[in-house]
Amino acid sequence: MGRTVRKEKPSAEDPRCPHCGAALSRWRTPPMSSWGEGWHWVCFNDACPYFVEGWAWMATQYNVHASYRYRLDPETDESGPLPVWSADAHKDRIVTEVDKGS
Ligand SMILES: [Zn+2]
Repeated sequence: MGRTVRKEKPSAEDPRCPHCGAALSRWRTPPMSSWGEGWHWVCFNDACPYFVEGWAWMATQYNVHASYRYRLDPETDESGPLPVWSADAHKDRIVTEVDKGS
């Protein structure tokens, strides 16, 4: 997305967004996504500068009304942008209860 996100090793239990310092939320990956099944850490802070500045950047670069949120893959420790088309996009996939299985 034209900007580099410095990779930082998150703490095991409580990773935080490197852009705004907010605690990340577990977000279920879509079934058809290339990320496979599971969940990623995503910053859903609407005041996060990465998300706020993304609107202007996408409008300038691509002339589209879109932005992105900070995303961290817990399996690979890789971070990247999660594209969003509104402030509420993807919030229906936030995991509030961790399924501990049987
Ligand atoms: Zn953030």
